[in-house]
Amino acid sequence: MTSSVRVRFAPSPTGPLHMGGVRTALFNYLFAKKHQGTFILRIEDTDQTRFVPGAEEYIIESLAWCGIQFDEGIREGGNYGPYRQSDRKALYEQYAQELIETGKAYYAFDTPEELDQLRKDAEQKGETFTYDAKSRLSLKNSLAFTPEETRQRIEQGDPFVIRFRMPEQEEVVMEDLIRGTVKVNTASLDDKILFKSDGMPTYHLANIVDDHLMAISHVIRGEEWLPSLPLHQLLYEAFGWKKPAFAHLPLILKPTGKGKLSKRDGDKMGFPVFPTEWTDPSGEVYSGYRESGYLPEAFINLLALLGWNPGSEQELFSLDELIEAFSLERVGKSGSRFDPDKAKWFNHQWMQAHKPDELAEQFRELLKARGHSASSEQALYLVNLLRERVNFLSELWNESYFFFEAPAEYDEKVVKKKWNSEVAQWVEDVLEAIKNQASFESTELEEKIKAYIHEKQMNPGGVLNALRLCMVGASKGPHLFDIMSFLGKEETCARLERALQQLPR
Ligand code: GLU
Repeated sequence: MTSSVRVRFAPSPTGPLHMGGVRTALFNYLFAKKHQGTFILRIEDTDQTRFVPGAEEYIIESLAWCGIQFDEGIREGGNYGPYRQSDRKALYEQYAQELIETGKAYYAFDTPEELDQLRKDAEQKGETFTYDAKSRLSLKNSLAFTPEETRQRIEQGDPFVIRFRMPEQEEVVMEDLIRGTVKVNTASLDDKILFKSDGMPTYHLANIVDDHLMAISHVIRGEEWLPSLPLHQLLYEAFGWKKPAFAHLPLILKPTGKGKLSKRDGDKMGFPVFPTEWTDPSGEVYSGYRESGYLPEAFINLLALLGWNPGSEQELFSLDELIEAFSLERVGKSGSRFDPDKAKWFNHQWMQAHKPDELAEQFRELLKARGHSASSEQALYLVNLLRERVNFLSELWNESYFFFEAPAEYDEKVVKKKWNSEVAQWVEDVLEAIKNQASFESTELEEKIKAYIHEKQMNPGGVLNALRLCMVGASKGPHLFDIMSFLGKEETCARLERALQQLPR
């Protein structure tokens, strides 16, 4: 059963989706799922000058990686389509016309050059030019012209735009689910263009018309759209339509806490800002969370907590748990600082919780790229043994290379500290004992070797450190007997023999 809750994510395909955009999509998704509602993807591509090839696909694919699914959209279809604004082009003009007929909008014939000149003239006087109630009657529009003049200009094909006739002095009182009551006087607002000379609506008109026609119940979007809210509300009123509820999400701030996290910050400061890698049409590459080794669960989890708080100490949430716990009431007003170290922490946590066999398969790929092979069982064994030590799957190699490559050299510091002729003799003795050892199962091997060490009155710490040096080439790695057991008798003996030959006696 779906409810009347209908929310949309409405990106413009002007480039890749910044993590702030993914968070907007996520919060819409969570809200929809929480209320058994419908989540819609609408592509807002009315500004053809800013269209970037590949951006639409990028948006869809990166959200799919995050596990964010749409119920209606350009790929899913639905009863309210088409879902791409350029495919809805034909329907906007009538709405602009309707506003002209009711006196809420007007034709404006000023050319871009004329407007530029007005801006420059004002600037020279230290002022700013605004197309508004004060200036409009001295400009070239249907409010200043006679109806006859306007008709003539249109008939002779003069290019025009349609502008909203902003009331001169009116207090607009708006309700935002996150910010409460917001008031703005229209005296500070200009006559925004609703319909452009290229026959396309602007964002404002298309957005309101589509939210209305698609029966959107809640508009959840970034704080940067708050300044547009008075116009949007006035547009709903001008059409006589019921407006949706609005919620403007707080900004995501730079790690320093100063200013909005921008698309350039990430690679400058060493963390991704985009969900997946993006190559600009210019060839510039921006790193992605996916390619940097983040699990989608971790990415979603860290995004959810940027601006929303669960009201408890819990920090780890799966997508299902987020749906369960999410509410707009718990989204804050103030900007939320992004912490790259915390992002890594989330990945570390999700590495422990993630399905081990999936990680194992990815680990096998990683090994393959390095020219090594491991069976699924072996990869699974290593993932379970070592994932506690890493934040990212890629770091597993550094924790496990000695399972695949015998030491090419031995850490000098360790050799100096832990190797001498006495331990060399012990290692030789242990090697002989191992050769007769039938089972190489870790605990059995451990018991046998430890008993042997005890029996021969060797220093246990000394001999175990030396054995590790021979097996790994350094004093690191997991449990020594796990390593030996994984490698088996032949390789273990070969490594001990080689170390005995190469290390000083
Ligand atoms: N197309 C706008 C954007 O790119 C949508 C804003 C809104 O959600 O109203 O963010």
